[in-house]
Amino acid sequence: MKSIRQVYKIGNGPSSSHTMGPKKAAEWFLRENPSAGHFKVYLYGSLAASGKGHMTDKVILEALPEGKAEVIFDREKTDIPHPNTMDFIALYPDDKEVSARVLSIGGGDIEIIGRKSLSPQDIYPQKSFAEIAQYCRENNLDLAQFAFSYEDESFREYLEKVWETMIASIKEGLKTDGILPGGLEVYRKAKRLYTFEDPGETEALREKRSVYSYAYAVAEQNASAGVIVTAPTCGASGLLPAVLYNACINENYPHDQIINALAVAGVIGTLIKANASVSGAECGCQAEIGSACSMASAALAYLKGMDIDQIEYAAEVAMEHNLGLTCDPIRGLVQIPCIERNAVCAMRAIDAVALAKYITHTHKISLDTVIETMYKTGMDLSRLYKETSQGGLAVAYTE
Ligand code: SF4
Repeated sequence: MKSIRQVYKIGNGPSSSHTMGPKKAAEWFLRENPSAGHFKVYLYGSLAASGKGHMTDKVILEALPEGKAEVIFDREKTDIPHPNTMDFIALYPDDKEVSARVLSIGGGDIEIIGRKSLSPQDIYPQKSFAEIAQYCRENNLDLAQFAFSYEDESFREYLEKVWETMIASIKEGLKTDGILPGGLEVYRKAKRLYTFEDPGETEALREKRSVYSYAYAVAEQNASAGVIVTAPTCGASGLLPAVLYNACINENYPHDQIINALAVAGVIGTLIKANASVSGAECGCQAEIGSACSMASAALAYLKGMDIDQIEYAAEVAMEHNLGLTCDPIRGLVQIPCIERNAVCAMRAIDAVALAKYITHTHKISLDTVIETMYKTGMDLSRLYKETSQGGLAVAYTE
């Protein structure tokens, strides 16, 4: 497993695999070919199908020299090694050509075919939650202490920055009105949800409304290319901050505990990245929102002082009931169903923790099993439901 830093990336939305990854790839390719006269970038698979709505072409063109680059959406090519495949070609004045095939593998990470991996090495020797739990029991560690024992000295500082950015995106989203970009005419709703006045509202409903509004706030910031934190992706970036911010406001947890909870969520996120995928193009929305839901449940269970078995069960329930969740964003925009889904599944994460409190000792499915199942389900899922905008809501919607 790699560092938890790989799960939490601070950057601009709207998509970790369709904007952050391609941008990183374009910047890398330019560094490799600074004196090329012209660049061609071919997008295939999901990038070709929904890249327009996700602004993939825009971020690539911005990263390459102005007026010297073109992006081609090739929707016909199917013999590709990954649903998010790109070919970069640098053309030199002496007719020399340099090319590279790059995969955007989710969560803003890229892989370059035939090159040494750009992503950092594994720092955790454990490969499963069962191994992590055993190590924690043998060494009398909780999951946050486990993470801090492997990460470097500046890890807490990094998580501080992550939390600061999450809160900033909530606050900015809560005070912003208007219509989201992209032409779908989707109104921003976070502020309306947050300020809604209902004299008969119960405390439980008020809390739900707050959670919804926080999730909407971040997801709407993401949809308008604002600065957010992948958790573990841009599309699912509203869920974890909503659950943690609500806990922070309502239950007044010490700041250090919130940072520890981010580390616990990060353990789950990095485990999923290592054993399955967090890419909607690879495994559907279960890999994005399902993973975020699982991370948020683990974080909240940790905050509530639950033991490692209860944390595992909460994370397992949260993932299990997102199995099969499809990715079908209308017009390739990370808006419908994405924004609402962050809010709905934030509540699902809270429910999973409540359930874990009562019946953890009866559970039969392990977190490792459900992560493996999510990946296999993702492999079985039709490509229509894997960020291609060619199935589901994306085709059912009419104006
Ligand atoms: S439907 Fe889910 S996986 Fe697909 S773009 Fe939206 S949030 Fe991401």
